[in-house]
Amino acid sequence: MADYVLAIDQGTTSSRAIIFDKGGSIISTGQLEHEQIFPKPGWVEHDPLEIWHNVSEVIGQALGKAHLTRHDIAAIGITNQRETAVVWDKNTGQPIYNAIVWQDTRTQPIVDRLAADGGVERFKQQVGLPLATYFSGTKIVWILENVEGAREKAEAGDLIFGNTDTWVLWNLTGGVDGGVHATDVTNASRTMFMDLETLSWDDDILAAFDVPKSMLPAIKPSSGVFGVAHSSSLVREVPIAGDLGDQQAATFGQAAYDPGESKNTYGTGNFLIFNTGEEIVHSKNGLLTTLGYQIGDEKPHYALEGSIAVTGSLVQWLRDNLGIISSAPEIEELAKTVDDNGGAYFVPAFSGLFAPYWRPDARGALVGLTRYVNKGHIARAALEATAFQTREVLDAVNADSGVDLTELKVDGGMIANNTLMQFQADILGVPVVRPVVAETTALGAAYAAGLAVGFWSDLDDLRKNWQEDSRWEPQMDDAERERQLRNWKKAVTKTFDWVD
Ligand code: ADP
Repeated sequence: MADYVLAIDQGTTSSRAIIFDKGGSIISTGQLEHEQIFPKPGWVEHDPLEIWHNVSEVIGQALGKAHLTRHDIAAIGITNQRETAVVWDKNTGQPIYNAIVWQDTRTQPIVDRLAADGGVERFKQQVGLPLATYFSGTKIVWILENVEGAREKAEAGDLIFGNTDTWVLWNLTGGVDGGVHATDVTNASRTMFMDLETLSWDDDILAAFDVPKSMLPAIKPSSGVFGVAHSSSLVREVPIAGDLGDQQAATFGQAAYDPGESKNTYGTGNFLIFNTGEEIVHSKNGLLTTLGYQIGDEKPHYALEGSIAVTGSLVQWLRDNLGIISSAPEIEELAKTVDDNGGAYFVPAFSGLFAPYWRPDARGALVGLTRYVNKGHIARAALEATAFQTREVLDAVNADSGVDLTELKVDGGMIANNTLMQFQADILGVPVVRPVVAETTALGAAYAAGLAVGFWSDLDDLRKNWQEDSRWEPQMDDAERERQLRNWKKAVTKTFDWVD
C-alpha cells in the first residue's frame, strides 16, 4: 500500500517536489531555483526546458531523501505559478519561445488594442477578469505575433499552449510520446478564455484574440485522474490526479472549503482568495472572479481574489537592486533597528498596481522622506507596504461579500517575518493565524490528488489535518490605524500617471 502523496509545486522562483503522509505532514522535499530572465524593462521570462529539467530532478531528490520509490506514492498533484504562458511544438516538444511570466507587462499594447472596443471590462462578465497583461491570453497573442512562423504553425495545429501545470503534465505523461494536454478549471480561469458558467473555452473571445482553439488544453476538474506518469519517469505509472493554480491550491491546503472562508499567501506577490461556494460573485471593488476548485464531477466552487503584484519581490529588490540587505530574512533585523516607519511610505507599483486599483500606469514611489529617514525606516516601510496592500484587498472583499472577516489564515515565504505579521494584525484589526504546515500550496495539490484516488476519503478528512501554529492579535489603537491608512492611501495616489 502506498503511504504517501507527491506534490509538484512549479513556482515563480523555484520548482519543488514535496512528499506528504496521510496526516498532511512533510516527509521530504526537493527544490531547485530557475533563472529569472529580464531581457528588457517590464519583461520577465523563464526557460521551460530548465523548468521541466528541474521538476524531474526535484522528484528524484524528494524520493531519494526519504528512501522511497514510486511504489510508495499513491498519486501526484501538480500546482503552479499561474498565467505564465508556454507555447511549444507538439511534434518536437520544443518551446518556440521562453515562458512569458505572469509579472511580464510587454503585452500592454495588446491589452489596449483589445480594450479599445468595450474597455478593460469587455469580457469581465464571462471570464471574471479585466483585460490586463497579467493573464495568459495576451501573452499567447504576443508569441503568435512576434515569433517567426508561429502564426502559420499554430493555424496548422502544430503548436500547443499551457500554463506551467500543463507543460509539466504533458512532459510527465510522455511529451511527444502521448503526453496529456490538459489543465484544470482553476488554471483555465486565468487565461481570459474560459466561460465561468460553462467551464469551456469561449469561441467568441478566442476569435477576438485571434487564438486558434486547437492550441488550448482540455479543461478538467482539479481533483481527478489526468493520466499516469510515463515509463521513462522515476514515478512511472503513478496517477497524476490533482492540478490547481498555486493560489487555489493554497486555499485547498488551508482547508478553506466553505463559502466565507479565505486565505492570504505572502510570496513574490500576495494573493487573497475568498471562497464564494457555488455562487459566481462579480466584484464591484476591483477583485477578480475565479474558480476555487472542482472535485470530480461535483459542482465547482468559485472565489473572489485580490492579487497584489509586488510584496516579497520588494524584499528581493532591496536585496538585489539596492543591496541594503544580503538575504530576505535580514529585512526583519534592519526593520527592528527603528520603532516605526519614520513617516516613510513605499508603494511598490513596479508593474503597475493590481487589486484593487488595476492601474497599469502606476509606478513605484517612496514618499514622506525627510533627513531623519534611514535604511531601517525604508526596510520597515517596505514590509508595511505588504500589510497596507493586504488591508485594501480585504476591504474590497468585505464590501463585495458583505461579510467582515474575523481572522486571516496566512501562508507563504514572508510569514516567517514576525514584525510583518504583527503589523498585519495591527493594520487589519483582526487576528492573523498561521498553520503548522506552512507549505499549503503543495499540500493543496497533494490533497486534490489524494482525494481523487481515495487516499483521503473526503473534505472532512482534510479539515482534521489543519492545525494552528501561531496567532498574532491586533495591538494598535484605532486612531493610529486610521492615521496610517490615510497616509498610505495618500502615498498610493502619488504613483498614478507615470507612463507616457
Ligand atoms: P513564491 O512561491 O512566490 O516563489 P515564497 O512563498 O517562497 O514565494 O516566498 C518567497 C518570498 O518571500 C521572496 O520574495 C522573499 O523575498 C520573501 N521572504 C522570504 N523570507 C522573508 C522574510 N523573513 N521576511 C520578508 N520576506 C521574506
